[in-house]
Amino acid sequence: MDAGRPRKQRQISTRCCIVGGGPAGMMLGYLLARAGIETVVLEKHADFFRDFRGDTVHPSTMQVMDELGLIDDFLKVPHDELQKLEGCFGKARLRIADVSRTGAKYPFIAFMPQWDFLNFLRDKGRRFPNLKIMMNTEAIGLIHDGDRVAGVRADAGGPLDIRADLTVACDGRHSIIRRSAGLEVEEIGAPMDVLWFRVGKGAETESMFARIEAGKMMVTLDRGTYWQCAYVIVKGRYDEIKARGIEALRADVVALAPPLRSGIADVKSWDDVKLLTVAVNRLKRWTRPGLLCIGDAAHAMSPIGGVGVNIAVQDAVASANLLAAKLASDGAVSEDDLAAVQRRREFPMRMTQAMQVIVQTNIVSAALKHGNGPLKPPLLARIVNAVPWLQGLTAKFIAVGVRPEHVHSPKA
Ligand SMILES: Cc1cc2nc3c(=O)[nH]c(=O)nc-3n(C[C@H](O)[C@H](O)[C@H](O)COP(=O)(O)OP(=O)(O)OC[C@H]3O[C@@H](n4cnc5c(N)ncnc54)[C@H](O)[C@@H]3O)c2cc1C
Repeated sequence: MDAGRPRKQRQISTRCCIVGGGPAGMMLGYLLARAGIETVVLEKHADFFRDFRGDTVHPSTMQVMDELGLIDDFLKVPHDELQKLEGCFGKARLRIADVSRTGAKYPFIAFMPQWDFLNFLRDKGRRFPNLKIMMNTEAIGLIHDGDRVAGVRADAGGPLDIRADLTVACDGRHSIIRRSAGLEVEEIGAPMDVLWFRVGKGAETESMFARIEAGKMMVTLDRGTYWQCAYVIVKGRYDEIKARGIEALRADVVALAPPLRSGIADVKSWDDVKLLTVAVNRLKRWTRPGLLCIGDAAHAMSPIGGVGVNIAVQDAVASANLLAAKLASDGAVSEDDLAAVQRRREFPMRMTQAMQVIVQTNIVSAALKHGNGPLKPPLLARIVNAVPWLQGLTAKFIAVGVRPEHVHSPKA
């Protein structure tokens, strides 16, 4: 190619352009295409195979899969099923939720690598000729017609304009779209960040979901041949921890979870450790004319409860329920139509963030700032552990959620 010649601006048009192929974007893409709507999903990465995605699929999401007739195939994708959520607080092992007591049709949490979940949606979406998923395509800004958002400016290996009647931002907690639209963010904050690394599995048989000790906390996800570790640190302390050296981190991890001793050598250097920053925030307003934000782009969720993926899916279902019929007709989608999505989803999102903040403050922060000496489990956790029906209530809140959505969007 002639390096001096400007690259040609391409342009395509569609009814709906979704930015971001995470849980919110892929589910919404599937639902709108199923309703016969011409839909383009832009994903900046070449594939979904990224390490740091939430792995928990809750009963609320499986209920949606069931309503879409996808559940049998979905459950054939390799996964682990967990009903009882337990954590080790110091020496005490406490049960904090029991999904088998929720009455949900699929009474377990499925642990499935998120790339498998997203690939599943992409494969199932192939049956809809009106769904175009553009990988390696990064949104870089918005196109405006007066004060209305009229599509997205993207880089697809060359400049590309996607003109759309509706643009939906599903581009996650660092959303460029919400920033480009000038939408105001209310920061709630999180006291922690996460160090994310893999430790090879040895002969250990003990399930090791969450461990909390004075000054330390870690969640381990079983990914078959290795443990995916999420080691929680006080926000902003990464440089300090790094300065102590990788050996010190390895020693801290093994002290917290002795069964990891056999595989900890896999963490060879800081190149094997990723810093994931945790944010909790929300937009005051999720819309502009021609634009809707959902999922983390509208409200960044903390990892607490492993709910963010499922809330993103619920947002997508609600958006399709409220907008698909209008989009399937030739009618214009007004800002009030879009605001109906925020009205529907704001309460469940606020309740869930409130729960996350309570846990962040009373358990995570309290544990991380706890000095030496034995860590006493919080009173609330001890009460829930002692009263099994309360474990059903906590599970219902986490795994089914507030105001669960059901699929009502049309099928073309
Ligand atoms: C450390 C950590 C651990 C977590 N663990 C869990 C968990 O176990 N379970 C759980 O349910 N939740 C978890 N969460 C929360 C969860 O990850 C999010 O709430 C959820 O992923 C939100 O889904 P989403 O589709 O809105 O956004 P995302 O999953 O962030 O997806 C956004 C997508 O948009 C793409 N994208 C971004 N910018 C652009 C652009 N400009 N152009 C095109 N594409 C773009 C991204 O590549 C990505 O694929 C965790 C969060 C953190 C920080």
